[in-house]
Amino acid sequence: MKTLESARSEVLAAVGVLESESVSIGEARGRVLASDVIAGEDVPPFPNSAMDGFAVRAVDVASPGATLEVLGDLQAGSTTEVVVGTGEAIKIMTGAPMPKGADTVVKVEDTITDGSKVEIGIAVEPGTSVRPAGGDVIRDQLVFEKGTRLTPMHIGVLATIGVANPEVFRRPRVAYMSTGDELAPVETTHLGPGGIRDSNRPMLKALLEEAGAELIDLGIVSDDPDLLRSALDRGSRSDLIVSTGGVSMGDYDVTKLVLEGDAGVGFWKIAIQPAKPFAFGRVGDAVFFGLPGNPVSVLVSFEQFLRPALLRMQGARAILRPQMVAVTAEDLDTDPEKTVFVRVVVEGLAEGVPKVKKSGGQSSNVLSAAAAADAFAVVPRGVATIERGGPVTIEMFKWPETREWLDGR
Ligand code: AMP
Ligand code: MG
Repeated sequence: MKTLESARSEVLAAVGVLESESVSIGEARGRVLASDVIAGEDVPPFPNSAMDGFAVRAVDVASPGATLEVLGDLQAGSTTEVVVGTGEAIKIMTGAPMPKGADTVVKVEDTITDGSKVEIGIAVEPGTSVRPAGGDVIRDQLVFEKGTRLTPMHIGVLATIGVANPEVFRRPRVAYMSTGDELAPVETTHLGPGGIRDSNRPMLKALLEEAGAELIDLGIVSDDPDLLRSALDRGSRSDLIVSTGGVSMGDYDVTKLVLEGDAGVGFWKIAIQPAKPFAFGRVGDAVFFGLPGNPVSVLVSFEQFLRPALLRMQGARAILRPQMVAVTAEDLDTDPEKTVFVRVVVEGLAEGVPKVKKSGGQSSNVLSAAAAADAFAVVPRGVATIERGGPVTIEMFKWPETREWLDGR
């Protein structure tokens, strides 16, 4: 058996970073930067007012009760050549450039005005409510490093510095299928005897999409060597082929029947639970991932092998989800021969540390418990039990949807 870590290193070593391309900023969410982004200008580009108020000289408002002459007003997007002198002020709106001579803004709430004069009720510190040029980003600054996966906030920053077409890595093209004679598409209203609906393929599609893949759906493939060969052939020009099912010890495990003799593909047993059987290698030009059939095993092998590989191919610097220490609200009994991924919910905090419990049944077919989970509790090899109240590493794959967990659910 391979360990989790050695299996993952082999997988990652077999995939390379894809070419780069430029995309419009409107299409850039989730894409990974292929070059460092350096600011060509200051943000904000000029000192401006943080408040609606009056632009003044700080020396004039050092003590309360100043009365100043109002020279005019200034809104965002306009400028003035008028200089604010001693005893003078310009009415100013949020975002308007600071007029010459002024170094401080008194917010409107602290003033009384009749339009031509303004009375300042309080003492105001120099520089108050002025946003300096470069206060957000300084020209020539490294704004984002190559390998950054773009969130909506990154996209906002790229827009402020005028990067309309960021350079990103290409998305991996992934052909995916599920295998099994028992499988019927989701639209099926009456399942035949022994039939079940194909849950892997729709879930896999969603997982792959979230990880940035471009998709080619090879459909449901029956346990028939010829049909599988032709599906593999159709996928062989993509970057990756992913299948589910047919990789373990059954008589009809078609993926195994077709690919076992193939020098390019290895049939692994990985010391993890769930998702022990796993096939990996090359089929045609494509890197092949043969995931197990049980839906929770699909999730675990996706999270542990496929998602990191997809992110690596897209040039991402961070390819593994963060882990943290939690405490378990119940005993966790696991197989000491394996790294076990227990599906857990965060049910509250124990002295500031997330407290987790099982989200439901832990059989690898019980997908509903995986849907209810926030995280895997990762119980390492060599550990048979973590007792209630004991520390456990968790790997969050989603955050709780509500804030209730802070007070316990
Ligand atoms: P296999 O690895 O092909 O023997 O499948 C293991 C288990 O997973 C069996 O109970 C299958 O019925 C089930 N399974 C395989 N593929 C799917 C799928 N696409 N959707 C739901 N269950 C599946
Ligand atoms: Mg099968």
